[in-house]
Amino acid sequence: MKNRQIQDKKISEEDLMEKVVALCKRRGFIFQGSEIYGGLANTWDYGPYGVELKNNIKTLWWKHFVHEREDMMGLDSSILMHPRVWEASGHIESFSDPLVDCRKCKERFRGDKIIEEHLGIKEAAGKSLKEISDIIKKHKLPCPNCGASDFTAAREFNLMFRTHQGVIEEESSIVYMRPETAQGIFVNFRNISAIMRKKIPFGVAQIGKAFRNEITPGNFIYRTREFEQMEIEYFIKPSDEWEKIFNQWEKSCKEWFERLGIKSDHIRTREHDKKELSHYSKKTIDIEYKFPFGWGELMGIAYRGDFDLKRHAEFSGQDLTYFDQEKNERFIPHVIEPSFGVDRTILTILIDAYSEDVIDGESRVVMKLHPSIAPVKAAIFPLIKKPELIKIGRDIFDELKSEFKVEYDESGSIGKRYRRQDEIGTPLCITIDFDTINDKSVTIRERNSAKQKRVQIDSIKEVLAENIYQPS
Ligand SMILES: [Zn+2]
Repeated sequence: MKNRQIQDKKISEEDLMEKVVALCKRRGFIFQGSEIYGGLANTWDYGPYGVELKNNIKTLWWKHFVHEREDMMGLDSSILMHPRVWEASGHIESFSDPLVDCRKCKERFRGDKIIEEHLGIKEAAGKSLKEISDIIKKHKLPCPNCGASDFTAAREFNLMFRTHQGVIEEESSIVYMRPETAQGIFVNFRNISAIMRKKIPFGVAQIGKAFRNEITPGNFIYRTREFEQMEIEYFIKPSDEWEKIFNQWEKSCKEWFERLGIKSDHIRTREHDKKELSHYSKKTIDIEYKFPFGWGELMGIAYRGDFDLKRHAEFSGQDLTYFDQEKNERFIPHVIEPSFGVDRTILTILIDAYSEDVIDGESRVVMKLHPSIAPVKAAIFPLIKKPELIKIGRDIFDELKSEFKVEYDESGSIGKRYRRQDEIGTPLCITIDFDTINDKSVTIRERNSAKQKRVQIDSIKEVLAENIYQPS
């Protein structure tokens, strides 16, 4: 076995984001949405490798939080819901951002964000519209676009996308694109608890799209108006020690990030202080990641009390209590809600995995993705385009394809094929050469170390299974 000289290259924070975005396009992970029409701002499309990565992450999440736990179940509810849902949830009344217009350049901004940028998060949190207007005025805070300090008074801007159901555009047919997946779980609580015969505590998980008409989206796929969530509502008894259960969820969420291979020193927990908390929440934490643009929320866990089910019981007129047979008592369950963004998780993973190094004097870009989520598990290369080698390569591909996402590639130099797979993050490359014809063995090269070893064709499957933890 040949030992290779590898030197890691240092990448500055300023360059990192640009490099990741460029790689995403170059290698088919993420494209600008509607690109041939000049793009639709803030929309991104996942390309052939992006969708593999995304599916692997969602599958692994489902495995970690649903299949591997006895107290969890899944759900896939509609994006369009009864308009009363959003009255009960409070979204119609208060799911809004304080919007201010710059009178000079006509750009719109979130008033609280302008305050946060200049005076810190504590000054901005939980302020009324009037307070926001006053603070901006008092400190003469400048427009982020043109620098003038001439803003309109702050006003509420509801973040829900509105549309119409049916063919007549009248008020009664207004529906909203859901701004979160959570409400689908609450409105199904009665069905699930009655039919699934689960005892509290139990939880329901859902993965799906949500929509928020953000005033200031940005940072690539970090904040987009259309995005995907992975949410859990965990129902507990009012008498349960909620803090203990909350801590267990925090631990489980951190284990999930470990499982994805995210560097632990790039993750931190931030607890919301009183001003930031919703009126019904006793505790909320964010798990944050160190993005190139600063620390940003990766997921949150909130203890929401009985707010959600109580409100839906009130607005629907239905009984959403739970009957505890052991204690012979009836109650409205309390809720702990861990909530993740799929796209944010993907951005985190891409940034975390991006590396550059020099092997034996040659520079390369390598995505050090955890093998369980890598879009392609192994690539199969005949050393050159000779029929004997192609035949063996094709046979190996056919043998592996039902169990692993593998790729067959015979074009270009072997070095170029390795570089391409390194940038996609493929953990193993399998090369067929002239010795293979006689000794029935191939060379398997490991991505990070570039180390190579000879393996019998018969045992390729075993080597793959050992090195690649499958998400399914
Ligand atoms: Zn301006």
